[in-house]
Amino acid sequence: EPFSEKLRVPEALTFDDVLLRPKESRVEPDDADTTTRVSKNVQLQVPVLSAAMDTVTESDMAIAMAREGGLGVMHRNMDVDEMVAEIERVKRADELIIRDVVTASPDQTVREVDEMMARAGVSGAPVVSDDDEVLGIISGTDIRPYLEVGESDEVREAMTDEVITAPEDVTPREALELMYEHKIERVPIVDGGDRLIGLITMQGILQRREYDSAARDDDGALRAGVAVGPFEAERAQAADEAGADVLFIDCAHAHNLNVIESAREITEEVDADVVVGNVGTREAAEAVVDFADGIKVGIGPGSICTTRVVTGAGMPQITAVAQVADVADRENVPVIADGGIRYSGDAIKAIAAGADAVMLGSYFAGTDEAPGRVVTMNGKKYKQYRGMGSVGAMQSGGGDRYLKDVDEDEEEEMVPEGVEAATPYKGTLASELHQLVGGMRSGMGYVGAETVPEFKQRAEFVKVSQAGQQEGHPHDVVITDEAPNYSPDDA
Ligand code: 5GP
Repeated sequence: EPFSEKLRVPEALTFDDVLLRPKESRVEPDDADTTTRVSKNVQLQVPVLSAAMDTVTESDMAIAMAREGGLGVMHRNMDVDEMVAEIERVKRADELIIRDVVTASPDQTVREVDEMMARAGVSGAPVVSDDDEVLGIISGTDIRPYLEVGESDEVREAMTDEVITAPEDVTPREALELMYEHKIERVPIVDGGDRLIGLITMQGILQRREYDSAARDDDGALRAGVAVGPFEAERAQAADEAGADVLFIDCAHAHNLNVIESAREITEEVDADVVVGNVGTREAAEAVVDFADGIKVGIGPGSICTTRVVTGAGMPQITAVAQVADVADRENVPVIADGGIRYSGDAIKAIAAGADAVMLGSYFAGTDEAPGRVVTMNGKKYKQYRGMGSVGAMQSGGGDRYLKDVDEDEEEEMVPEGVEAATPYKGTLASELHQLVGGMRSGMGYVGAETVPEFKQRAEFVKVSQAGQQEGHPHDVVITDEAPNYSPDDA
């Protein structure tokens, strides 16, 4: 075939090339239901994931994301033990029963217990015998008078010895009823022999209730996602055992046959769902759709990514998502659009193109819950944000994402596919996510779809010219106030 035939190129579009065509609607944004799936067995009420990057998602972000109804995917620039500890932190964060309870012994002095509780930041403690039998409970209220007149008395004097306890299978409702009836704030959980297993607090129950759309597993613990390298079977096993709900094979080019073989083996060895990525074409989707529990799309759209300029390869994201979704939809496998999303409008366009959920890095990197501290430059606040293929991130591990051997002793310079940057500081994740999801819901309203599956079917695109794109941003004005979802720098 003549080379010049190659120049009859197919069109590939990205976010700014398209808009959703408005349609007849009865759907108010507040009625739009964003419930979706990220993988075959994991449903979310908010179709949003935070990126597996060392400046975006560790346990703090994962906890916040899951409480708000999305999913945090923790990065893998940490050793396996640290990763297990991070997963466990997420899993325990909203646990009804606190299992590492601060306890007192009956022959400690009141003063000792008071100091111990202050150090641990708790306001009450079960009193247990040497073999963990619950003998009583002591709280700040019990202690206060003793501190004045009898601080060296023993705990057994000061404690309440008629303790209300409950068995391990108590429901939140039953626990609250006990607290209400007996005017108490803590209920020790005991086994058949009255030995302490854990503690339920009123604060714990009420806090869980605040997060009514939280992503939880069958036991009520928050959902946790974690990245594993394409050849890291051991990490995958450890993450699975630690209770991760979804593993994300973290590779810049998953349409590599070695990656696919290894990913397939990993899916066979773990109970957790396995999302395979990243891919950007129909053929790549065909190659993984028979074993993947979800497929993640994105070859080079990321804000900190230089893959396209460094390697000359990539796929504009809207076309990439649509091609993968054609294949995945047929097999009922969820699709995640990863990278390049700057606005809520981009996120909902990705879903219109066939994604079930979206993953964002830069959008969340400036929030409190992202790792790293706030720095001030020229009077403005920023947080660090770097590509996982940047020099700095690859030096801390994970070069195999780009299918490269990164040997620390090696003198040779690496060829990065990402940059290190700063991103404006943004405050809490909850408010960022509120803006993002609010915009997405409004998009569903413009198209007249009440649910994500309905929206995916009903949404249509129009193509936008350069002039149309300019028209779409604020123009011919000087922006005087920053909107929570639009900064003058975006114009
Ligand atoms: P963002 O939301 O910032 O536009 O994109 C985040 C996504 O970019 C990540 O989820 C990941 O897929 C991708 N990514 C992260 N770091 C790098 C990098 O250094 N190079 C490339 N090519 N992609 C990256």
